[in-house]
Amino acid sequence: MGTGTPGKCIIVSAPSGAGKSTIVRYLLGCGLGLDFSISATNRPKRDHEQDGRDYFFITTAEFRQRIGAGAFVEWEEVYPGRYYGTLRAEIERIWANGRAPIFDVDVVGGLRLKEIFGEQALSIFVSPPTIEALEERLLLRGTETAETLRTRMDKAGQELAYSTRYDRILLNDDMQRACEEAHEVVNAFLSA
Ligand code: ADP
Ligand code: 5GP
Repeated sequence: MGTGTPGKCIIVSAPSGAGKSTIVRYLLGCGLGLDFSISATNRPKRDHEQDGRDYFFITTAEFRQRIGAGAFVEWEEVYPGRYYGTLRAEIERIWANGRAPIFDVDVVGGLRLKEIFGEQALSIFVSPPTIEALEERLLLRGTETAETLRTRMDKAGQELAYSTRYDRILLNDDMQRACEEAHEVVNAFLSA
């Protein structure tokens, strides 16, 4: 862990399918002192996912209640009717353990977290080589219906336009190279 870790955080954003979960998972295994900040969502759990590990899966009513209680640092209706939010309690828990939270959030949420945490945060935008590659990855991942694939692809074009507002743009063409580059920039940030 870097000596400069306290109070820092890492934001990873990208259009869905660009590879941010893959990169976040890799970074979590690098011994950098990072902990995944588990978001809350009202979307249905996928087969391989676990409640309390990948997300806190909650109902729409519970999500609304938590908004009202001020439990979120930021929240978004990322897709119509699908809410996702970063929990204040997660960040506090991770910092209290002397570690740095890593956020896997959508592009708008990422910019909002950067606005909130400023220099304490490193914001990384994971970019797919092309929009066609993005669609192919989503298809191969096998998690989308024709409808959710369309929604995600429709959104991707707008999301790519936000990339320049991030601290770093990470091209995910070759997965191994992208992971190594991510490791380098995060390590440098946490050590500073
Ligand atoms: P995200 O979290 O951004 O939605 P994932 O990390 O789930 O994206 O990646 C989407 C799919 O693309 C996964 O099946 C993943 O294994 C694959 N993938 C990630 N990076 C690459 C890459 N550089 N080349 C080819 N496939 C990739
Ligand atoms: P998925 O449904 O594929 O898990 O996630 C869909 C999108 O929601 C991804 O871009 C993911 O990064 C984003 N997301 C996950 N958690 C949060 C969160 O707490 N806040 C925001 N703004 N987006 C999130």
